[in-house]
Amino acid sequence: MKFYKIMSIKELYKTMEYGPAPESATPAMDWIKDHKGKFQLFIGGEWQAPLSKKYFETTNPANKDHLANVSEAGAKDVDKAVKAARKALPVWLALGAHGRARYLYAIARQVQKHSRLFAVLESLDNGKTIRETRDIDIPIVARHFYHHAGWAQLKDTEFKDYKEVGVVGQIIPWNFPMMMLSWKIAPALAMGNTVVMKPAENTPLTALLFAEICQQVGLPAGVVNMITGDGKAGAELVNHKDVNKIAFTGSTGVGRIIRKAIAGSGKKVSLELGGKSPFIVFDDADLDSAVEGIVDAIWFNQGQVCCAGSRLLVQESIAEKFYKKVRARMEKLRIGNSLDKAVDIGAIVSPQQLKTIEEMVKKGVDEGGKLFQPSWACPSDGYFYPPTLFTNVTPSSTISQVEIFGPVLVAMSFRTHEEALKLANNTRYGLAASVWTENINLALDMAPRFKAGTIWVNCTNVFDAAAGFGGYRESGFGREGGKEGLYEYMKPRSEDELLSKPVAREQNVSKGTKSDIPAIDRTAKMYVGGKQKRPDGGYSLTITDNGGTPIGEVGEGNRKDIRNAVEAAHAGSKWTSMTGHARAQVLYFLAENLAARGDEFVARLQQSIGVSDADAQKEVELSIQRIYTYAAMADKYDGNVHHTITRNVTLAMPEALGVMAVICPDEFPLLGFISTVIPAIAMGNCVIAIPSETAPLTATDLYQVLDTSDVPGGVVNIITGERDVLTPTLADHDDVDGIWYFGSKAGSKLVEEKSAENMKRTWVSNGQYRNWQNAEQGEGEVFLRKATQIKNIWIPYGA
Ligand code: NDP
Repeated sequence: MKFYKIMSIKELYKTMEYGPAPESATPAMDWIKDHKGKFQLFIGGEWQAPLSKKYFETTNPANKDHLANVSEAGAKDVDKAVKAARKALPVWLALGAHGRARYLYAIARQVQKHSRLFAVLESLDNGKTIRETRDIDIPIVARHFYHHAGWAQLKDTEFKDYKEVGVVGQIIPWNFPMMMLSWKIAPALAMGNTVVMKPAENTPLTALLFAEICQQVGLPAGVVNMITGDGKAGAELVNHKDVNKIAFTGSTGVGRIIRKAIAGSGKKVSLELGGKSPFIVFDDADLDSAVEGIVDAIWFNQGQVCCAGSRLLVQESIAEKFYKKVRARMEKLRIGNSLDKAVDIGAIVSPQQLKTIEEMVKKGVDEGGKLFQPSWACPSDGYFYPPTLFTNVTPSSTISQVEIFGPVLVAMSFRTHEEALKLANNTRYGLAASVWTENINLALDMAPRFKAGTIWVNCTNVFDAAAGFGGYRESGFGREGGKEGLYEYMKPRSEDELLSKPVAREQNVSKGTKSDIPAIDRTAKMYVGGKQKRPDGGYSLTITDNGGTPIGEVGEGNRKDIRNAVEAAHAGSKWTSMTGHARAQVLYFLAENLAARGDEFVARLQQSIGVSDADAQKEVELSIQRIYTYAAMADKYDGNVHHTITRNVTLAMPEALGVMAVICPDEFPLLGFISTVIPAIAMGNCVIAIPSETAPLTATDLYQVLDTSDVPGGVVNIITGERDVLTPTLADHDDVDGIWYFGSKAGSKLVEEKSAENMKRTWVSNGQYRNWQNAEQGEGEVFLRKATQIKNIWIPYGA
C-alpha cells in the first residue's frame, strides 16, 4: 500500500499531492457477512446448495484478502438451472410486453438504489477502482435496464415479425462483471427470453447481489438463474441440449471452442471476443486531449478491456513530442487500493492475469521494444502492474499483435493516412478504433475504412445502451446494445414455418425435355472475375434432366478454382464503396436483362427440373421481382443515429461483410440463386456462389445476363461442382468474411465448425428448407441483416 504523509494545507497547496480518499468497504462486507460468507446458486427463484457440493474462494486482488466462498456449479446444477429457465419461459411470455417492461424498470430502479453497494462490491471483487465502478460501470448497468425496459414495452409493435429465441445461456468475463451482466440480461429479458448466466469465477459477487435484486422485485421464478462456477460450468451450459442460444464474452480462444462445440446444433450464438484496437493520433490533433484519451483507452480498468486502445499509432512528425507527453502523464498516474477514490489504476484481477502481463512485457523487451514505466513503485500487497509504454516496436512483433489485457501500450509511428489505415487494420481483430484529429473530413474518411465495429472520433471507450457494441473479424459477431443488439435475442417468426423437405413443385406431365436448348455438346465454364474460366482440374460433370437424360456439362470446380474466385472477389471490392443508388441501377438493369431472356430461363427450368410451364414461369417472374426488391432496398436498408446519452452523434451504419460465400439451395435453381446472391451483392458484398449442384445450368446461363448488366467483374463469381467438395474450402478460407449455406444438416455443421477459425459470419439452414416462392421465407430484411454488420461511429456533437 502507498502511505501518505499527513501534510498541512499550505504544504498541500505547494505540492498539489492528493491524500488518500478511501470509500468504506463496510456495506459490502456487511452484505457478505449477512450471507455468512457463503453463497448458493440461484435457480428457479431460490437459493440452492450446489449438487456438486463444491465451493470456491473469491478474493480481493488489491490486498489478497478472502471475501467469500461461492458455489461451484456442476453438470447437474446447470441442468437444473436450464430446466428452471425452460419452465419459466411460458410464464414470462404470458406477462406480455408491458408486464416484462415493468420488471425491467423495477430492476433498473433497484440497481440505482443499491448503486453504492454494487460499486463497492465490484471494486472489492475485481480490484478495479471505485471511481470507475461508481461513475461508469454501475450507471451504465442501470441505464441498460432502463433502456431495455423501453424496448420490452415496444417489442410487439417494433418487432411484430420476430419472436423470442427461448432459453439463453450467457457466459461473461471478469473485466466488467456487472456491465457485461446487464448487456446480456437486459436485452434477453426484454425480448421475452429466460436466462441462465454463468459469471466469471474471479468475480461472482455482484452477479449474486443482482440475483437478490431479481428476488426482491418478484421476478417470476426461473426467468433469471445464476450459476457460479468455472469454465467447466460454462462448457456444460454451452453443450446443454435445451439451450436455444449462447451469448458469450471472453477470449477469442474460448469463443472458438464454443463456436465449434455448438456447430450444427441449431443454437444461435453471439460472441464478443478480444481485440487489439488502434488509437491513432494525427499531427493536427489536440495532443493534450489525446493524452487524456490514452489514459482512458489503456489505463482504464488496468487495460483489462476488450476494446482497449492498446496500439498507439502516431504521425511521425509529432511522435517524439507526443511520447514525451504520454510519459509525463504516466509519471502522474496513481495506483493503489481500488477503494481509494483518488486512484487512477487499481489491481489486476488475479495472479494468473498478472503473470500473463509480466510474460508479455518480457517478450516485448526480448523482441527489442523500448520499455518505459514510471519511476514510482507499485504497492506490494496486491496484484498490481504499472502503466507501461513500448516504443521501437514493429507491427509484426508479438506485443503488437497479441491481446495483452493489461496496462501495456504499444506505440508505432506512421507517415501518411493510408499507412495509418494499413497499420490500424493490420490485426486479426476488429473491435474498435479511436481516431484523433481536428480535421473532421479526415476522421470521416477513415471511419468507414477501419475494419472494426466501433469507431470513436476524438473520444474513446464510450459506451451506451442505445448504441451497439461488437466486433468484426476475430473479435466475434453479434452486437450488444442498440436496436441492432436486440436481434441477437429474437428470431423471425417465419423460421417456425420452415420445412423438413423441399416444397413440392408442379411437375411437367409429359416428362422429358421439351426445349430447343442443344443437348450434351456444351460445357459451361466457371465465372470468375467477370470472365468465363476453364476449371483448374480440366474435369467436367454431366448434368441430367430429372429423367436422367444428359442435358449438358459443367466444370468441376476444385480448391484452386475457389481460391481464384476469392481473389477475384477481393479485387471486386470497389463495388463495396459504390453508393447504394449506383448498385441499385446495376440490379435494375440485371432484372431487365433477365426479363428479356425470361423464356429461355423458363425452358431451362422445365428442362432441368421437370417443372410445369406455369411453375417455371412463376420461378422466373419471382426472380425478376426479387431482384427489383433488393435493387429497391440497396439504398434504403440504412442505419440509425442513436440517441446515446453522451454528447455524441452516434451513427449506426450497416456495412457489407466483404467477401461472402453463398452455397445456394439445390432446389429452385434460379430463384434460390437470386434470393441469396442478390441481397448479398445489393449490400455491397462480393460473392462466390456455388449454384444448385443438380441443376447448375440455370446459373451458368446467367453469365451473359451478368455481363450485359454492367455487374463489375469479381462481384459475382460462380463455381460449379460438388458442394461437399467446394464448401469446406470456402468455410476454411481466411479471406472469406461470411458464408451462407443452404443445404444438409451435416453440411451446416461443417460450415459452422470450420468457420470458427477466422470467425466468419455464418448463416446455415440446418437441413431445413424454405419455400422460396413464398416472400415471407424467401426474401426480406433478414437477408440484408445477415449480409451486413453494424458499425457504430461516435462523433462529438453539441455543447
Ligand atoms: P475466458 O474466455 O477463459 O473466460 C470468459 C468466461 O468464459 C468465463 O466465465 C470463463 O469461466 C468461461 N469459460 C472458460 N472456458 C470455457 C469453456 N470452455 N466453455 C464455456 N465457458 C468457458 O477468459 P479468461 O478469463 O480466462 O481470460 C483469458 C484471456 O481472455 C485474457 O487474458 C484476455 O486476453 C481475454 N479476455 C477477453 C475478454 C473480452 O472481453 N474480450 C474478457 C476476459 C478475458 P471462468 O473464467 O469463470 O473459469
